[in-house]
Amino acid sequence: MAATVVRLPWNGQHWPGRVVDGVPTFGFRSAPPGLATRRQLRARGLCPGGRDWVAQVRWRGGRRWAALYLVDQAVESPGATTAQLISLWKAQRVLRTCTECGLLAPYRLPKFSRRCWPCRPARRREAA
Ligand SMILES: [Zn+2]
Repeated sequence: MAATVVRLPWNGQHWPGRVVDGVPTFGFRSAPPGLATRRQLRARGLCPGGRDWVAQVRWRGGRRWAALYLVDQAVESPGATTAQLISLWKAQRVLRTCTECGLLAPYRLPKFSRRCWPCRPARRREAA
């Protein structure tokens, strides 16, 4: 990758990077300050707020990429809606309910059996 300089459209600064498909593109850990990925915004309690991403980070020879948002334009995350929380609660209940005795376990049951410890197939214990 040839090291070039790209002009940042949002503040006119110049920063090492390149333009791919008309989008400013930076290497891993070399994005200019003031930009953040969706997860980085989330870590600060922010979300893009309907704004489009303005740049991207590409790594592993372009096989991995992440969209970059302007931190200044990000808004405080409103958090999950009541419907989303109810949906998550229902999903958790399914993952914690034993398929054999119907007991609601205080932990997620293993995917392969979805049964609580007393109902679990005793095959491995007998073999041992
Ligand atoms: Zn059970």
